[in-house]
Amino acid sequence: MATRIGFIGLGIMGRPMALNLIAAGHRLAVYARRPEALVPLADAGAEACDSAAAVARKSDVVFTMLSDTADVEQVVLGSGPDDPRAVIAGSSPGSLVVDMSTISPSATRRIAARLADAGVTMLDAPVSGGDIGARDGTLSIMVGGPAPAFARAKPWLEILGRSIVHIGGQGAGQVCKACNQIVVGQTIAGIGEALLLAEAAGVDGTRVRDALLGGFAGSRILEVHGRRMLAGDYRPGFKAVLHQKDMRIVQETLHELGLGLPGTALVAQLLNALVGQGDGELDSAALHLAQRRLNGRAHGPV
Ligand code: NAP
Repeated sequence: MATRIGFIGLGIMGRPMALNLIAAGHRLAVYARRPEALVPLADAGAEACDSAAAVARKSDVVFTMLSDTADVEQVVLGSGPDDPRAVIAGSSPGSLVVDMSTISPSATRRIAARLADAGVTMLDAPVSGGDIGARDGTLSIMVGGPAPAFARAKPWLEILGRSIVHIGGQGAGQVCKACNQIVVGQTIAGIGEALLLAEAAGVDGTRVRDALLGGFAGSRILEVHGRRMLAGDYRPGFKAVLHQKDMRIVQETLHELGLGLPGTALVAQLLNALVGQGDGELDSAALHLAQRRLNGRAHGPV
């Protein structure tokens, strides 16, 4: 019998991912708290459900692509212990939950333990690659959880992504995503500082970027985010407020581990300042705006 798939969280990332599963021939049951978010999926042939539990009742595997830790807790476990609308209330023993949101690694382990008590296995499978990767099915997917569950989920993950790596046990995927956001955040900050130096020294930033792209400092982030900084074009992409959320998760994890990573803390503070100044909806490359304001160069050309 064909596997029945559920999908909950139909935003910038979840909608194209769910559509890709349908395009690959799967039957989907979907739920969103705003009924209008269900329309494009229903139009594509998905069955719209009125709760997360209803999705789980119709599914052997439920994918979630929600915003933050508290959202996954609410949707999967419910608002209280016996919430009839939660995924756990509708799940059968032997079923699978694959959470692809970016959330806390330690909360992931707690959610996985609660699901395990109900006979349900959880994988954490956060992604990198943005809305373009979601649409094109080229995401990088970092997976935590038991190997047999990973093997079961892999064919579906291969529809959604190009690089699928089993990192380790439950929570390991989210730890990997935290590592990813440390590297991305510090690289954006480094590029922003370099372009600010070029500008202050009266050197053409576009030529600096061109030269750096051909050498050891070259990177996809220099290419994409460097271009955005030079153009002052901060249309999202990956919103600063989501990167701030991810750095909060990193900071919470460092606190739990008693680990001090000063460069990471600095990036988190710059994102706090940027969001605090009302720019959270801009692309996370706008971290450069916080650096500019720090140096009294808010309005000049880069
Ligand atoms: P988004 O567009 O805001 O979508 C999130 C979806 O989850 C929305 O449809 C939202 O419903 C739903 N949702 C949130 N909380 C819910 C709750 N408590 N109950 C029911 N539905 C809920 O965000 P996104 O960009 O798709 O990001 C989703 C996740 O992927 C985040 O964890 C993000 O960090 C991660 N991510 C994003 C990107 C990117 O480039 N965007 C890249 C990599 C990873 P409403 O529409 O009703 O608000």
